[in-house]
Amino acid sequence: MIPSAFTYHRPQTLEEVFELLGRHGDQAKLLAGGHSLLPAMKLRLAQPQVLIDLGRVRELAGVSVEPDGALRLGALTTHHQVMTDPVVRRHAPLLAEVAGVIGDMQVRYRGTLGGSIAHADPAADYPAALLALEAEIEVAGPGGRRTVPAGEFFFGPFITALQPDEVVTAVRIPAAAGADQGWRWGYRYLKMARRASDFALVGVAAAIAREGQGAAAAVRVALNGVTGAAYRAAAVEEHLAGRVPSEELFAEAAARAVDGVDVDGDALTSAEYRAHLARVYTRRALAEAWQRAGGQAAMAAG
Ligand SMILES: Cc1cc2nc3c(=O)[nH]c(=O)nc-3n(C[C@H](O)[C@H](O)[C@H](O)COP(=O)(O)OP(=O)(O)OC[C@H]3O[C@@H](n4cnc5c(N)ncnc54)[C@H](O)[C@@H]3O)c2cc1C
Repeated sequence: MIPSAFTYHRPQTLEEVFELLGRHGDQAKLLAGGHSLLPAMKLRLAQPQVLIDLGRVRELAGVSVEPDGALRLGALTTHHQVMTDPVVRRHAPLLAEVAGVIGDMQVRYRGTLGGSIAHADPAADYPAALLALEAEIEVAGPGGRRTVPAGEFFFGPFITALQPDEVVTAVRIPAAAGADQGWRWGYRYLKMARRASDFALVGVAAAIAREGQGAAAAVRVALNGVTGAAYRAAAVEEHLAGRVPSEELFAEAAARAVDGVDVDGDALTSAEYRAHLARVYTRRALAEAWQRAGGQAAMAAG
C-alpha cells in the first residue's frame, strides 16, 4: 500500500501547471483531493513520477453567480462545499443533494468536483446530475480555453473529452429555464449503493418543470452506474414531456430507463438486476422530483 516514488510540485498559477505538464508529459499527474488518485497509486494502478498539486491555484477555487444567472463552481470546490454552500443550495439544489451522498465525511472534505468529473468513474454521482442540469465544463490548456457541454464530456469508463494537457477549471450550471413562463422545477437524485458511502450501483438524477396547468413542461432524466458513462434517458423524457403526470405515466416512462443501453453486469450485480434497479429508481426519482415541483402530494414514491 505504499506508492512508488514521485516528485511533488505545488504551482500557484495555471501557466505554471501547463509548463509542468509540458515538461513532464505523461509521467505527470494532476492532484486535487487525492481521493481517487492516491488509492490508485497505493495499489500501483497508477505510478506517476511527478505529481502536480492544484490545491494552490487560486483560479480553480470559488463559487459565484454570473450576470446571466448561471452558477459557476471552481474545479477545486469540495463535495462538502457543494453540499453546504448556500449559493449552491439555492441555485443548484440537485447538485447539493448529490454531493451529500458522495462517500463519507472524509471523502467529502477532500474530494473535489473537478477531480471527480475528470476521473469519470462510471459509478460516480455527479455526472448524471450535470447531464440533467445541462451543465458545461470549462477546460483550459496551453492552447487556450474551451467549454464542453456535459453531454459531450463523458465518453466511457474513465474516458472524457479532456486532453492530456488540459485542466478542468470550472463547472457552469445555467439558470433554470422557463422562469418567465412560471415554470416551477423539482429535482431529485436517488442512488442504490450496497452500503451508505459506496459508489452507485445505479444513480438517477431527475429534473421536472411544472407549468401552471399542471403538465410537465420539461423533463430531464440522467443515469449513472448503469453502463460505461452517464447518459440522458431520452425515451423517458419523451414519454413524459408536455403531459400531466400520474403514477401510471411515471411507471410507463420509467420502464424505458435503459432503452438502447448496453447495461453492465459485473461482480456486484447482474445486468438484469441493474436494469431493474434503473427502472425502479427512475420511477421514484421522477415522482419525488414532481412532488418537489408542487405536483400532487399523492404522487409519493412507492
Ligand atoms: C472511500 C471512498 C468512497 C467514495 N465514494 C464515492 C461515492 O459514493 N460517489 C462518488 O461519486 N465518488 C466517491 N468517491 C470518489 C471521490 O468522490 C473522489 O474524491 C473523486 O472521484 C476524485 O476527486 P479528487 O478531487 O479526490 O481527485 P484526485 O483523486 O486528486 O484526482 C482524480 C483524477 O482526476 C485528475 N484531476 C483532478 N483534478 C483535475 C482537474 N481540475 N483537471 C483535470 N484533471 C484533474 C487527476 O489527475 C486524477 O487522474 C469515493 C472515494 C473514496 C476514497
